[in-house]
Formats: sequence, C-alpha cells, structure tokens
Amino acid sequence: MSVGTSVAPQEAPEKFGDLPIRPETRRAIQALGWSQPTPIQQRVIPLLREGRDLVGQAQTGSGKTGAFGIPLVERLDPTRRMLQVLVLVPTRELALQVADDLRALGRYRGVAIVALFGGQAIERQFAELKRRPHIAVATPGRLLDHTQRGTVRLDTISTVILDEADRMLDMGFLPDVSRILALTPASRQTALFSATMPQAVRAIAERQMRNPVWIRITAPQPTVDSVTQYYLEVAEEDKVKALRRVLRHEPVESALVFRRTQYRVDRLAKALGREHSVGVLHGGMRQGARLAALRAFAEKRTPILVVTNVASRGLDLPEISHVINFDMPEDVDTYVHRVGRTARAGRPGTAITFVGQHDIEVFDQLRKALGPSLKRHPLNIYAS
Ligand code: AMP
Repeated sequence: MSVGTSVAPQEAPEKFGDLPIRPETRRAIQALGWSQPTPIQQRVIPLLREGRDLVGQAQTGSGKTGAFGIPLVERLDPTRRMLQVLVLVPTRELALQVADDLRALGRYRGVAIVALFGGQAIERQFAELKRRPHIAVATPGRLLDHTQRGTVRLDTISTVILDEADRMLDMGFLPDVSRILALTPASRQTALFSATMPQAVRAIAERQMRNPVWIRITAPQPTVDSVTQYYLEVAEEDKVKALRRVLRHEPVESALVFRRTQYRVDRLAKALGREHSVGVLHGGMRQGARLAALRAFAEKRTPILVVTNVASRGLDLPEISHVINFDMPEDVDTYVHRVGRTARAGRPGTAITFVGQHDIEVFDQLRKALGPSLKRHPLNIYAS
C-alpha cells in the first residue's frame, strides 16, 4: 500500500477481513454494522498497527475514530491493568463519543476506558480510574488536573492520539498538549488527526513525532458527492416562513439548523416549537442540558436541532438527513464543516443554505468554490 501525502487512491474498497484485525475486534466491528472499511481506515489501520507515527488530515465523518480506534484496541495488552493509551480531544462531547466508540470496538477484548473531561465531578472520575482502565480519552485541562493531583500517571502510556488537533489549537489547548506529551515516555507512538493543517499543527507533528507518515484523506474539494446542496434566496424577515415550508416540502428525518448566536438559536427554536419537536444546542448550555439535547436528537425525539457553530463542531451525530444554514456560514470552510455533518459514511444527505440580503459576499465565495454542485432549491417561498 502506498503512503505519503497523496489523497487516498480510488481503489476498490478492501474488506475488514484483509486488514490486520483480530477475531474479537472483527466481531465488535460486525456488531457495529460496519461492513467495509472507509478509505481512511484502509490506510491508517495497518500503519498504526505496525506502530508507526502518523498525521492524518481527515474530517469527522470520515470514520477516523475507527481508523485509530481499531489498532488501539488491538495493540494494547488487556491483561496489563494500567493506562496504555491516551486520546486527547478538544471537547467533553467528543470525549464521550470517542470513549463510546472505543468501548464498542474493545468490548470483546476486555478493554476498559475512562473519559476525563471538565464539567463532570472529578470524584466520579477518581472512582473510574481506580478500576485501572487501559485507555483514557481526555480533554487537556482536566487531564492536567488529574496529573497534578496524582490520580493519573502518564509514564505507562505507549500510544497517544491527538484528535481534532486544529480545534485544540483554536481553543488554546496547545500549551497544555505539549505539557501532557512531555509527561509521556519519549518512546511512545503518536498519531495526530486534524481537519485542517495550520502551521501550528504541523509544528506539533514535526516536533513531537518520529518520522510520521502524512496522509490526507479529505479532498480539498468542499463537497461530498452524496450531499445534494441547495441555496434558497430568502429575505431575512421571511426565513422562518421559508424554513417551515422546507420542513414540509423536504423528507426531513433529522436536521441540524445553524444559527449564528445563542440568542437566535433560542428564538428560532421557540418559533418552530409550536409545530415541530425541536431541540437546541449552544455553548451557553450546561453540560447536562447539552447531553440531554444530543440524546433526544440521536433518538429522534427532537429530530430538528437548532445549533450554533461552536456547539456543533466535532460532534458525531449520525444519520442527519438535512443540514440547514438558516444563517449563512462566515466562510467556505465553515460551510464545509457544517455540510460535512450530513451524508456521513456515504449516506445521502441534503444541505440547504438560506441566502439573505446581507449574505451576498459569502454566497459569491461559495458559488465560486462549489460551482454547479450548488443548485437553487426548487421551492419558491414567494409563490402563493
Ligand atoms: P467518525 O469520522 O469517526 O466521526 O465516524 C463517522 C460515522 O461513521 C460514525 O457514526 C461511525 O460509527 C461511522 N463509521 C465509521 N466507520 C465506518 C464503517 N467502516 N462503515 C460504516 N460506518 C462507519
């Protein structure tokens, strides 16, 4: 298999059976219903399994958690009850999600996992740590808190994964990440995943890793083939009406609706709440409320979730049929991140972007970036 900085070759999909995976893990993969490895899984699993350092440019939705999760649960020794693997993530939601995914992958090998994140009582985490987990999935701040209290020791770690490194950078975690890495053995294996590769992220890779293989899976092209992308021109004051029409017109199973601010999220949810079951997710909510909102959405009790950008990034929300940009994203990158939330793992999805009178500038950039794949929505909300 070729390695390097190239985009994944478009070869016929391999089977999980062709990859170096033990029967217990294969069973866990089957139980998850994954029939074929995604491109990033095809390339990353053998390399991490061999112990290589690796930098992977890949977005949420590419199957990257499985790409590092499968070799992680394979390589560690379940009979040694000590912390062997550390996965650093930017947010508590991602910590919980990655921990869940790893638990599912490691269930037949007896792999124990702890999620360590701020906002949860630290005592509860002490209790989980006493059970001597093999893997910690942690946000940097809380992990440092544990190391300072002596409740976590990192000198037995053999593999470190830095997940969503660009977001950790955005959130100001890089100094913490460096401090954490300094507490782990120099002989460790390190892998870094990031949707984008700003200089500061590259610098970590160069400073902290040993001859890493660089892999880019996401094409720079901002579209996913299976997402149908529409725009709908609608004046600011008519957007609520337009959304109601869209929800009636489109086969919406579950939709993420993006708004720019927390206040606007709440206001829109209220306006829609009379007709639809609507949830909200934004940075102003407490941890418990956020988790409850995510659960209600995942279970389709509130199939429409109105969110801010910040709240939504990095979340794994499977089976979203629609992404609706009620407010125009700030730039093309943000658009790509949002739209990437639908059509996960090859499922078809639809993105609809409202274009108001103040959105022309970004809309022009979008049209330039997306070309003919961005189409006008057939709905005319101004027709009677
Ligand atoms: P991730 O990019 O890790 O957030 O994964 C995106 C979604 O794809 C998650 O819901 C995974 O459960 C799912 N997934 C990961 N790998 C596969 C696979 N090989 N086949 C089908 N679904 C997958």
